[in-house]
Parts: sequence; structure tokens; C-alpha cells
Amino acid sequence: MATPVKEKKYVYYFGGKKAEGDSDMKNLLGGKGANLAEMVNIGLPVPAGFTLSTEVCTSYYDNKRNYPKELKKQVLDALKRTEKEMGAVFGDKKNPLLVSVRSGARASMPGMMETVLNVGLNDITRDALIKKTNNPRFVLDSQRRLIQMYSDVVMEKAAGIEPKEGMGVRVQLERELHRLKEAKKYTSDTDLTTDDLKKLIEIYKKKVKEVLGKPFPEDAMEQLWGAIGAVFQSWNGKRAISYRRFEGIPDDWGTAVNVQSMVFGNMGDTSATGVAFTRNPATGEKYFYGEWLPNAQGEDVVAGIRTPNPINEVGKNEHTRHLTSLEKAMPRVYKELDAIQKKLEYHYRNMLDIEFTIQDGKLYMLQCRVGKRNGPAAVKMALEMFAEKLITREEAVMRVEPNQLDELLHPVLDPAAEKKVKPIAKGLPAGPGGATGQIVFTSEEAVAWAKKGKTVILVREETNPEDIEGMRAAQAILTARGGMTSHAALVARGWGKCCIVGAGTLKIEASKKTMKIDQVILKEGDYISLNGSKGYIYNGKLDMIKAAEENPDFQKFMKLCDAVRTMKIRTNADTPDDAVKARAFGAEGIGLFRTEHMFYGKNAEKPLFILRKMIVSKTVEERRKALDELFPFVKADIKQTLAAMDGYPVTVRTLDPPLHEFIPQHADGRKLIADSLKISMQEFDKRADALHETNPMMGHRGVRLGITYPEITEMQVRAVFEATAELLKDKKKPFPEIMIPVTCVDTELTDQYAIIDQVYAEVCAKFKIKEIPHLIGTMIEIPRAALTADKIAKVAQFFSFGTNDLTQMTFGFSRDDIGSFLPDYLEKKVLPVDPFNMLDREGVGQLIKIAVEKGRSTRKDLKIGICGEHGGEPSSIEFCYQQGFSYVSCSPFRVPIARLASAQARIRDLNTQAPVKKVAKKTVKSSSKPVKKATGKK
Ligand code: PEP
Ligand code: MG
Repeated sequence: MATPVKEKKYVYYFGGKKAEGDSDMKNLLGGKGANLAEMVNIGLPVPAGFTLSTEVCTSYYDNKRNYPKELKKQVLDALKRTEKEMGAVFGDKKNPLLVSVRSGARASMPGMMETVLNVGLNDITRDALIKKTNNPRFVLDSQRRLIQMYSDVVMEKAAGIEPKEGMGVRVQLERELHRLKEAKKYTSDTDLTTDDLKKLIEIYKKKVKEVLGKPFPEDAMEQLWGAIGAVFQSWNGKRAISYRRFEGIPDDWGTAVNVQSMVFGNMGDTSATGVAFTRNPATGEKYFYGEWLPNAQGEDVVAGIRTPNPINEVGKNEHTRHLTSLEKAMPRVYKELDAIQKKLEYHYRNMLDIEFTIQDGKLYMLQCRVGKRNGPAAVKMALEMFAEKLITREEAVMRVEPNQLDELLHPVLDPAAEKKVKPIAKGLPAGPGGATGQIVFTSEEAVAWAKKGKTVILVREETNPEDIEGMRAAQAILTARGGMTSHAALVARGWGKCCIVGAGTLKIEASKKTMKIDQVILKEGDYISLNGSKGYIYNGKLDMIKAAEENPDFQKFMKLCDAVRTMKIRTNADTPDDAVKARAFGAEGIGLFRTEHMFYGKNAEKPLFILRKMIVSKTVEERRKALDELFPFVKADIKQTLAAMDGYPVTVRTLDPPLHEFIPQHADGRKLIADSLKISMQEFDKRADALHETNPMMGHRGVRLGITYPEITEMQVRAVFEATAELLKDKKKPFPEIMIPVTCVDTELTDQYAIIDQVYAEVCAKFKIKEIPHLIGTMIEIPRAALTADKIAKVAQFFSFGTNDLTQMTFGFSRDDIGSFLPDYLEKKVLPVDPFNMLDREGVGQLIKIAVEKGRSTRKDLKIGICGEHGGEPSSIEFCYQQGFSYVSCSPFRVPIARLASAQARIRDLNTQAPVKKVAKKTVKSSSKPVKKATGKK
């Protein structure tokens, strides 16, 4: 005999004392459905109802918008149980039950999908309800609201009708309401009498038929299925789709639909509704915080139609002191609610956002979910809940999103101010935080205006090293071109400065000192505001919120992270000042010291001048002379940086960029160098032109310079060794790691090592010391280097992945020009994210995996780090941890974020029990053994 096939379950009941679901079933029941079930299970008063699972939604879309055949019966069964629990019957002539129909996806998508309330009301159930409640006003008002909501959501939107602006059915019905109020000279909706409402309902029905060509359905069942269908349809509405894209929510998750008995907060003075949080979500402080409205429906609180009252006395402020709290107005119900919120927080071990309704003195819970909070509040709550032993240390660390730390480290635009306006343009979020200031179009103006005490935003097509001073003087930087690793982005991030790049809709006319965005023309001195964490550009001056980096909570929280994490965090610092700042943020060394940056910015004039002379030198003698002149500057810079990081490793990279980048653009600058070299301008131009390259990113740069001009490498390593030797004599603990960039073949390193070895011996002899602790390694930023890492590791004592170039070379995307096409790639979903921002695990990641494996097959304890911009991005940091990296290195302001992300990666790893690569842990603890003469201790 065949065993009967068990029918697939699509509908889950909740009500009374027991629900069919629980809070672990979010994937199936959506967040709202799962939490309603959980509240029932822990004995809270929840109006009964049922959830149609997310599988109904996916099946609906997979089957040309048809429901699974089992659905109808399961809905009717669940409806029966609901009716039984509530003691009322859906569509009944005497004792009718009304329901709400709401969406509820796995992840919260606030306001993105549809809701229909008061389903089941028609002329017959209306009269029955009036009799039952003795409250005709409320019943008639509910019916009017149903017609308005239903015709809009179900009959128009879900039917795919796209009316002309101002001609939607909802607007047209609202016009009828105003017309009636005007005729009667009423000022408020509450002035409408029951007769007015009855009349209005008839007008509404007529209008619906007229606008949509169909009558409003009076049949309760038809209303129910119409509402369910509309909610499923709204999963694929425009708003929901674009929200999902923005938040990275997969399209195939689908939404659940919750059908729940209606309870009414608008039945008179003993009824109310409210929204509350178990702790203050804006500050993190531990007290019950919320708002309520007497005689109102939930939507009234959320929609901001009426100003709500504070829920209790402790939550009052100077603006709300005069308003009545629920605590005072309904003390018994408040006490019950307070006990419930405590129970809920204890049960969920998290701050919750709850919605409730009081119907005629009886309290009902309508929703609970983990509450959204800002960065400072997240940190405070995590620490306090850990101290209260409500959560473990690991949970506390997981409670803060790495990017939320930005809110503590940078001033940000006030989210309330931001909510009220729309961005005029968008770009790539290259430097976090917010800024507001007057626009200027040149670096010189930025410096001049800042000197006058003005706060400016520097707007450029793109930036280059000559803009450095202006960039420093500006509060923020905005460019029309460039990507996440373009010059502007790198520099701004290094300084913790707000920056947006690649805002393609900006049309800059620097000569006219104007820029145009669509139809808006902005001129020099006009105010704009930037949200550098999201890439939003606003017209005008928005309010700001200060950074809270001194916040003691922040320091405490960082300690928690450090106790968990195993991977080290270093910083990319180019000046001694940056090194000091990064130490304060907890950096455990420098992972990238870009020597070339000492030729720009503060006090750079003299060394830059000498460097330029060196670059246009023609003979070895000329070049050596210039290098000798340059030497003391380079050595001093390195020495100061090593001293600032005393006791920690400092990775000093030899000169990387193509030399022509340093050639002055203006004739004046060129003349000065020509004179100093005693050559003619003509000769100078000839030499400068000879340096020009068609594709400089793949040109004469990095190690290639050291091969052509060994004396450049020689000067630099001498500066490193001498600086170290002097510090050793001063009883300091310097630890330089010399790093060769843009390597593609091991023999390049062998060539350079011969120079380094010789200089090392000379410096040891000069200072009469036996050894100078150091390591010599290379960057891996070219695919060939990754693929031949076993050979390269024979020479190199450490690898540092330069993922900016590695991404550029792997994708073949120019890192400086990606702004011109990336928005299209993202819009069309050709790429899910900007690969210069978040490491591409599939392609670039594969090269990294190969390089780590091959490298460590040669040298077991090979030190491995990353110094591309990905070293400060949480998902990329997790990837590095998984590959067994010794450290990640990022700009100073991202160090705390990296400390947190690294701790979280470890916790996730421990939780999933995925095998950690043994070598990872060993490498973290063990020291790197140098192959050659170099003696590493770290
Ligand atoms: C890199 O390529 O990732 C890197 C750190 O070097 P740069 O950005 O200086 O080219
Ligand atoms: Mg590079």
C-alpha cells in the first residue's frame, strides 16, 4: 500500500497559548511572523492569526503567479482557528472578525511593501460591528479607511495600473474627503459626523468604480484574497526591488504574509496605540523608551500625522514635558506593558522595537523585532548587556556593525536632517562621515578660503598629487571622476576625511567656477552637504553630529574586540603624524609607508625639488649627487616614523610611482630645476618628455625603477638601515620591513637583494653593530607574482598583497577611471559591488589563495599581510582572516573598524567550527625566520 504523501505546510497559525512557528523560523515565516509566533509561545497577549510562508511567495512567482494548490484549504483552516480563538467569525453578519494583512520578509524592509487593514468590513459587517461596539464613528471611519487603502493597494497598484501624477485612486478619494470637509467648513477629520462618514463611504465607492472601472468588493473572502495577492505582488514592486538592491537582499527570498485579527486603538479614550524600544535606540541608555497616542491606530504614530506622547515620565524632554505619558494616563496597562518589555528583552537578549495596541483597556502586542540603533547606541548597549551578563563577550562584539564605528570616529550628517531632503547626486562613498561646506573648484582657492576661516568642500574633476594642500585644507572632497582607489579616495581615507568620488552627473566648469547637476547650477561659495559613507550629495547646509572618538565606551569596546581577535591590525601611514594617530587608534605597526608621499604636503618643497632634480638627471653621477642631497630628508622621515611606532614593525616601501608623476606641470617650476641643474629649458623639456609613458600604471615604476637605477634603491635602504641603527643606539626598538613593490618575477627581487645586502653590511660596519633587525619582502600586486609565489617566497620573507593593483590587473579595470562605467555595472547587476571597495573573492581572492598556499609551501612561517584599500573593509578582512593572514593594514581611521571586523571574523569562524588553516594561528604566534642575513624578530 502506498504511504500517503504528507501535504506541504504553507500556513502557520499563531494564537492562544501556542504557535506553530517560533523565532528561529525567520527564513520561512519572515521576521514579523516568526516573532509573533515567539511572543505567543512565551505567553504574551497577541491577537490570533496566521502566516503564509515565504515559500508561498517563491512558488507564486515560480508558477506564473499561481498559488500552490494546498494553500486555499490551509488558509481556511487557519482562519477557523483564528475565529475560534477570537470568538468572532470573518464576514459574519452578527459577530464579524476583521483582519489585517501585512508583509514580512526575512530582513526588515520598512515601508517597502504593502499592508491592508480592516479587511472583512462591508456594509453588513459594518452594521453588526456598530451594534457590537456601540461606536458607529469608529466603525464607519474604519470602513472609509479600508476602501481608501484597498482600492489603492489591491485594485490599482497590484493590478499594475500606473495612473498619471495626481490621478491615482487614493489621491482622488482624498480629494473627495477634502471637498466634503470644505463644504461643511470642517477643519479636522474628527469633525466628520457619522452621517458624513456614511455619505463619504458611498461617494468613495462610486469614485472607485468610476476611476478603476470595477466596484469595490463587498465580499469579505474576496477582500482577503485580494489583500494577500497584493502583498505578494508588492515583493516585486519598484520600491521593494530598489531597496533590496541597495541592501543586498536576494530577490528569491520572497516575503511572508501575516493575516492577523484586528484590534483597535481608536475605539475611544480607553484605547491607544504605540511604538517603543526596550532601551533608547539613539543613545543606548537603559530605560524603556517610546511613544503612544490615545484613541489612534498604529499607522497614526508611524505616519507622523499626530505628535505622539512620551510613553513614560523618564522619557520626557523639554519639548514633551507637558504631554501626558501612558504611565500616568493608564497606569495598570503601562505596568503590564513594562513587564512585557522586560520579559521580551530578557528572552531575546537584545534591544527590541515593539508595537502595541490597547483596545478598550486591554493590551495587545502586535510586533516585536530587534531594534535598529545608531553606532554610539550599539556600542553602549553591547557593553552594558555584557556587564549585565545578558550576553557573552563574543555576542557583545557581534552586536556592532563594523561600519557603525564610523559614526563614532567621524562627524556625520544628522540622519533626521538627511531624511527630510533628497540627494541631488550620488557618487562612490570613498571617505566616510559627513561634511557640509562652501564649494571651491581649485586647490589654491581651498587653501585661501580655509585661511579665512571658511569651511570648504573642494570640487574637482579628479585630483592629483598637486592638489594635496587644497585637499588638506578642505573639509571634504568631491570629484566627478575616479574610483574607490583613485588618488582622491586614497588620500581622503588616509586622513579620515569625508570624500565622494566618481559622481558622474556633476558637470564641472572650473573656469566659470560653477558646477551643474541636472538642472541645478551651483557656484563657488554655495553650500553643499556630503554623506561620504553613502555617497550622497545634498544641496545646502545640513545639520551635523559630532564625532565621539574620545568616548570611553569606544575604548572599552575596542578592548573587548582585542581580547577576541588573533589577526594583527596595522596601518597605512605616510607621515610620522599619521603614525602617531594610528597608534592612538590601536594600530600594531605600519603595513605600508609610501615613501613617495613625503614629497607632497607639509615641508615637502625642498625634498620634492631635489627629487625632481634626481628624476631628470641624465648621468649616474648627476643622479647620485641628487640622491646624496635627498638622503638626509628620507632618513629623517623614516626615523621619525620608526620612532613613532617604536616596538612595532614598519613596512617601508621603496619608491613606487612612475617618475613623470613628479615632474612639475608649470613652466616656473620647470625653470627652477633646469637652472639648478645648469641645463637649458629645452634640454629640461626633452628629458621630461622622455619620461612620458602611454600606460604609466604598467610602466616604469616600482621595482623596475630600482633595476634601472640601482642607486635609488641603494639610497633608500641606506636611509632605512641608518635610521634604524641610530634608534638602536638610542635603546629604541625599531623594526623595519623593507618592501619591494610591483614585483612580477623572483629574479627582480634577487637583483634588488644584492643591493640591499651590500648596503646592510656597510651600515653595520659603519655603526659597528652586528645586526640590524629587519625583514625584506615584496608586494604581491601582479597576477604573475601570485601564480609564482613559491619561487618568490624563496627570496621574500613576507608578502603584502597590494590589492588595489592586483584588482586592477586581474579585472583589467583602470583604478582611476572606473567611475565612468562602474555605476552602469552596478545598476545592471553585471557586478554586485565595486571590486576596488570589497575584495572580489572569486577572482582576485583565488589568486590570493594560490599565492598564500604556494608561498607557505616554500616558507612555512611566511608573514602575510594586505595593504590595499581592502584591508579596511569588513568583508575583505574576513576573507584575509580565513586565508590565515598575519595582519591587515588600513588607513588610521579604519583601524578600529578592522579591529572589530577581525574579531568578528574569528567569532564567526569559531561558531561555524570551520577548520582554521593551522598555519594561520602558527604564523600569528611564531616569528619569521629570515633566509639571508636579515634577522627578524617579529
Ligand atoms: C596596492 O596596489 O594595493 C597598493 C597598496 O599600492 P598603491 O595603492 O600605492 O599602488
Ligand atoms: Mg600598488
